[in-house]
Amino acid sequence: MGLGITILGSGSRGNAILVHNERNAILVDAGFSRKELLARISACGIDPRTIRALVISHEHGDHVNGARLFSDELNVPTYVTFKTATRLEAARKLGKKKILFETGTMFDIGEFQVRAFSVPHDAADPVGFVINSDGARIGIATDLGHINSLCAQRLRDCDALVLESNHDVEMQQRSERSPSLKQRVLGRHGHLSNDDAISALEQLVTERTKIVFLVHLSSDCNECDLVLRAARSKLDGIGRKDVQLAVVLQDKASQTFWVS
Ligand SMILES: [Zn+2]
Ligand SMILES: [Zn+2]
Repeated sequence: MGLGITILGSGSRGNAILVHNERNAILVDAGFSRKELLARISACGIDPRTIRALVISHEHGDHVNGARLFSDELNVPTYVTFKTATRLEAARKLGKKKILFETGTMFDIGEFQVRAFSVPHDAADPVGFVINSDGARIGIATDLGHINSLCAQRLRDCDALVLESNHDVEMQQRSERSPSLKQRVLGRHGHLSNDDAISALEQLVTERTKIVFLVHLSSDCNECDLVLRAARSKLDGIGRKDVQLAVVLQDKASQTFWVS
């Protein structure tokens, strides 16, 4: 029973990541509408009825826009921290069934063992995830201002790594964005720059790493080719031509990668 990952899309207009095997799946974040999520899942050849739970990283709209309608339609629980649940409830984004978890703890959803760890980002209680199943490990951090030592520890040594590579710092500084938005994005609790993401690969990629997905690219302050070129050159430079690379954008799901 292999472990697969399919990223349904990523960026400031929606994020959702499916972790799955042949029988069961969990959806990490539901940033697209219910209809769009179901369409993308089916287009990937995955039966939505195999989804057992929704797991939420934080309350920003690009991660929860379809959360309530999606989880209620499939009648699955939403795993969420107390603080994030409070925000979601206030915004009427949380489905009927909720299961609370605490940041820093591990919990099982069927055969998926999920570990939630705190990430530096400007939300109530933002988390990244490490998901273990079938002897394989997937690390996910889509929104984080910087990689602190806890994040580095958790995200290191994964078979598949999903990491934010949000913006090129120079493009961000030159952009038409307001000074306050620039400050937010570039801040320690904003979004991870290409330079920070790519230099972290040296630390995070280990012998077991097979693929790195770079996600949550800014549509106006980044370019897919720029990210791919820089990441490829970093990985080649550390002798890891064998590690696959994929940039996942907003409008199209990734191909399924079988981690085990
Ligand atoms: Zn966010
Ligand atoms: Zn986001």
